[in-house]
Amino acid sequence: MTGERTAGQGRRDLAVLGRRGIEVRQAVVDAIDPETRRVALADGETIAADAIVVALGAELAPERVPGLERTGGLFYYTLSGAERLRDQPAVVGRGRVAVVVADVPFKCPAAPYEAAMPIDHALRRRRVRDRVDVAVYAAEPGPMGVAGPEVSRGVVALLDPRGIDYHPGVKLAAVGDSGHEIRFAGGAKAHCDVLAVVAPTPGAAGGA
Ligand SMILES: Cc1cc2nc3c(=O)[nH]c(=O)nc-3n(C[C@H](O)[C@H](O)[C@H](O)COP(=O)(O)OP(=O)(O)OC[C@H]3O[C@@H](n4cnc5c(N)ncnc54)[C@H](O)[C@@H]3O)c2cc1C
Repeated sequence: MTGERTAGQGRRDLAVLGRRGIEVRQAVVDAIDPETRRVALADGETIAADAIVVALGAELAPERVPGLERTGGLFYYTLSGAERLRDQPAVVGRGRVAVVVADVPFKCPAAPYEAAMPIDHALRRRRVRDRVDVAVYAAEPGPMGVAGPEVSRGVVALLDPRGIDYHPGVKLAAVGDSGHEIRFAGGAKAHCDVLAVVAPTPGAAGGA
């Protein structure tokens, strides 16, 4: 996201699991029958098991916020979104970066704050931080609520000395046509030059 590491440096080979005696099979699952504990694959094969653990993920749904997809919000929860965000703060040089959690629940409660702080760090390293504002707008009432109030206060205490504005309890309602105006439920608005968004995630369970 800030260019300090490449995508390749974050990848791991699934063959590692094979060496531990775990068989890895990549295929599309068409159906799961919990009664017979059978999994039907799209290639026609059926897998039987004594226990089935299902982890099909939670998809981002940016289309739920009017203007978000069209106006170029950067969905840094995806690899392509993180790579697009990578060069943005430098491009801004002067302006405002908004890290926005559009709605709750969302995947990984730490990730918005883990985005804002490296962005702050990258801007300082490039010696442009005094010309770029960084703000977090989050639909949740406070950071990392699943970890309890002490951790939540601790995260806020990390943002403050870095000059990162924090606006909790605001749900993203729309992005204006220019892509620079973010609108929240209840009528509040904010300006941004770079919009880094955790898009609505309807299937998320609320924790990591
Ligand atoms: C930026 C970010 C940072 C995070 N950091 C942390 C962290 O530090 N610690 C932590 O614990 N968690 C973290 N998380 C959360 C963690 O990544 C997710 O909770 C975890 O990946 C969810 O695993 P999953 O297998 O349920 O879903 P996914 O990782 O989304 O994987 C689901 C897979 O199922 C596949 N699939 C879907 N439908 C089918 C089908 N019909 N047939 C076959 N395959 C299918 C999908 O293609 C996908 O590959 C982070 C998440 C993000 C986005």
